[in-house]
Amino acid sequence: MSAPARIPAESRTPAALQRARLPQPQDNARVQAIDALLPQTQCGQCGYAGCLPYARALAQGSTLPNRCPPGGTAGMEALSALLQVPPLPLDPACGAPRPLHVARIDESLCIGCTLCIQACPVDAIVGAVKRMHTVLAGRCTGCDLCLPPCPMDCIQMLPVLPARPWTTLDAGRAREQLRARAERLAREQARNEARLVDQAQHALTELAARDDLAQEELARRTAIVERALARARERRATRAARAPAPATAPGAAARETPA
Ligand code: SF4
Ligand code: SF4
Ligand code: SF4
Repeated sequence: MSAPARIPAESRTPAALQRARLPQPQDNARVQAIDALLPQTQCGQCGYAGCLPYARALAQGSTLPNRCPPGGTAGMEALSALLQVPPLPLDPACGAPRPLHVARIDESLCIGCTLCIQACPVDAIVGAVKRMHTVLAGRCTGCDLCLPPCPMDCIQMLPVLPARPWTTLDAGRAREQLRARAERLAREQARNEARLVDQAQHALTELAARDDLAQEELARRTAIVERALARARERRATRAARAPAPATAPGAAARETPA
C-alpha cells in the first residue's frame, strides 16, 4: 500500500482544507466512528488534509491505521480494533509521537503578515495586518501548521510543562474550534460576496445615470459590470449550496485519556 505524501503547505488553501475537514452528508457512521478516535489536530502527518480525510481513507481501506503520530500507539491500537485489523508499529515516515507542544511567536520579529492565522485550523492565533501576532496557548493543538508559512521564522514550538499527552478532551475541544472557525470563515465569505454584489449593482446604477458616454462605450462598460455581477451571484450560490454540515461526530466521548 503506497503512502500518500504529506500535503504540501502551498496547496493547503484555507477554504479547501476547511471543506475537506468538515463532515459531509456522504460521511457514514463508520467514517464518523473512525474520526471520533482521531486527535483532531489536523496536522497532516498522516499524509491527508486532516483527520476526517484520513478517516475516510481508513474506512475505504486505502491506508493503514498506523499513520497518526499524535494519536500514538494507543490511537493506532484503538483504530486497529475498530477496523478489525492487526496492530502495526507506527509508521516512522509519518513522524514520531511527542508530548504536547504549543506555538510561541517571537513578537519582536513578527511583521504582522497574517499568514500564520490563515494556516491555523483552530483560530489559535490572534493579530491584525501589520500588527504583532500572539498564540492563544490554551487553543493551540501543537500541529506545526503555522511554521512553514511564516516568512520570518519567528514561530517556535515549545513543550508544555509539565509534559502531558494529547487527550480525548483536547480532541473534542479542537473539533469544536475547527467547527467554529469554519463558521467564521463562512460568515466572512458571505459578507464579502454580499459586498461584491452590492458594489456591482451600485456601479450599474451609476452607469445608467451617465449621460456623458457614447452609447457604444456605455454598453461596453455595462456588459463588463453585468458579467462581474453574474460571477458574484454565482459564487454566492455555489457557497450556499456547499455550506458545511455540523462538525460534531457522534461517539466522540470526552474521556481524559490519551487520544
Ligand atoms: S492528528 Fe492524526 S489523523 Fe489527524 S491530521 Fe494529524 S496525523 Fe492525520
Ligand atoms: S498556533 Fe498552534 S494550533 Fe495554530 S497552527 Fe500553530 S501550532 Fe497549530
Ligand atoms: S506568519 Fe510570522 S511574521 Fe507573519 S504574522 Fe505570523 S508570526 Fe508574524
